[in-house]
Amino acid sequence: MTFGEYGGDSWDAASGVGATATMSAAVRAIATRADLIDDPFAEPLVRAVGIDHLTRLATGEVSHDDSVDRIWIDMAEVRADFYDGFFLDSTSAGITQAVILAAGLDSRAYRLPWPPGTVVYEVDQPQVIGFKTRTLVELGATPTADRRTAGADLRDDWPAALRIAGFDPARPTAWSAEGLLSYLPPEAQDHLLDTVTALSAPGSRVATESRPNPRPGDEAETRQGLRRISDRWRTQGFDTDMEKLRHFGERNEAGPYLRRLGWELDGATIRDLFTARGLQSLQDDTMRLGDLRYVSGVLGGSVA
Ligand code: SAM
Repeated sequence: MTFGEYGGDSWDAASGVGATATMSAAVRAIATRADLIDDPFAEPLVRAVGIDHLTRLATGEVSHDDSVDRIWIDMAEVRADFYDGFFLDSTSAGITQAVILAAGLDSRAYRLPWPPGTVVYEVDQPQVIGFKTRTLVELGATPTADRRTAGADLRDDWPAALRIAGFDPARPTAWSAEGLLSYLPPEAQDHLLDTVTALSAPGSRVATESRPNPRPGDEAETRQGLRRISDRWRTQGFDTDMEKLRHFGERNEAGPYLRRLGWELDGATIRDLFTARGLQSLQDDTMRLGDLRYVSGVLGGSVA
């Protein structure tokens, strides 16, 4: 079963929706230089992709002030904290199998203190995953877990690739889907969450983002915001169309959908997380990012 097309059926970290992995890593590089997070691999990975403007932002060669709104840098901070904390809590609870869906240029498998024996699977498009593996080998980086990769399309039969890589559905798993769901067509999102649930032994955990359905007028504002970002980047030499990469329209909200599948979730909105840290950048929230909810929880409510 394959759902939808956006910019072709495969891509690398420089093209189509794959470039969003490089954008996210560029923002992490900026946040790392500002001592907000600690992702030492973000900058070298962005540099290796070779999108000039993103490289200049990641290395600090050009100021990010005219290119990246503060809200995205603050989001990188709360997002790193949320997902790092999710995996560390999961392993503290005894889970030794993790799956990072849409891993992009995420370096958790190389920088988190995974307990010995933890297996971390990364799933993304084959060219994105292959590029990251090669680049980190060239950089002399060593995974801090038993890292295994599954190059696959998440609209397609990715569980087959995961099984071939050694995934064991009988073991409780910690799953993350970070920065992914808006890039999937609605029915592919449902199918992905169904599949994650079907592959989850009792005590498995999940973390992702739950976006509320748009109020009238919201989508027009979001589209306009994405066009504004793309236009600005185009004038700065990076040709992308952020609006085209996203899927709009009604969809099941991930949090309530997962709850119906038996997951017991907690969550906090970006607004809550920013308030807790005293971050001010939501004052300029034209794209309604503040309502995005980070959710995580346990299948069946029992801890592994
Ligand atoms: N999770 C990473 C992070 O936070 O840095 C990457 C997020 S990036 C915004 C979105 C990622 O989703 C990209 O790496 C892209 O390749 C991946 N992705 C989107 N749709 C996908 C699909 N159908 N199959 C595989 N990967 C997909």
